[in-house]
Amino acid sequence: MRFIFLGAPGTGKGTQASVLSQTFGIPQISTGDILRKAVADGTELGRKAKAVMEAGELVSDDIIIGLIAERLAQPDAAKGYILDGFPRTLQQAAALDQLLSHSAGIDAVICFQVPEDEIVRRLTSRRTCRGCGRNYNMITDPPPADNRCRDCGGEIYQRDDDKEETVRNRLQVYAEKTAPLIDYYKKQGKLHEIDASREIEEVRREIVDLSRRLSLRA
Ligand code: AMP
Repeated sequence: MRFIFLGAPGTGKGTQASVLSQTFGIPQISTGDILRKAVADGTELGRKAKAVMEAGELVSDDIIIGLIAERLAQPDAAKGYILDGFPRTLQQAAALDQLLSHSAGIDAVICFQVPEDEIVRRLTSRRTCRGCGRNYNMITDPPPADNRCRDCGGEIYQRDDDKEETVRNRLQVYAEKTAPLIDYYKKQGKLHEIDASREIEEVRREIVDLSRRLSLRA
């Protein structure tokens, strides 16, 4: 199955993509994670992306499309994947359709819906491991007292783009640039909207059920 997880930042796309990539045995492809790694490694891509990301703006379409084309050509993407945080603009969506024009294309676009107040609360309480990218939440899943990751021992920090002012800007960018993709995929008959304000396990189960129904239909 090839999925796109669409939705504003903080709606839980990354969490679900991570859990479901294990359930389905397909990779989670997160452009945000790829960019954060490039920033941490100090590559040329990372140097270009750093300031843009810290401000909560979008990295240019050319860069992102090049990066995704390269990633989708890797052998582990042959069986399917979950795109998490891509596409984020109509240009990126059109480029993806072009890239997949010789195959069956995307099977399902899951649109994660959460009220804005709840998103702000979730994002400003999020903490992230510098080592493995695992997320914690100061309200529901606080990191250990020594501020070291439970999985890898890495340092826990607050992403610059999870600070409140930047969160508000990211939501505005989402409304302007990414929300039009909802109609784009609705017209293609691929959009499935889910209430992502519920418990992680409930949301996970709904996506698993949906994918079963889609596989049966295929
Ligand atoms: P995320 O972890 O998906 O919230 O991404 C973090 C940041 O990386 C975003 O705020 C953007 O600055 C950048 N980014 C990630 N994915 C994309 C994309 N598909 N297009 C443009 N910028 C992106």
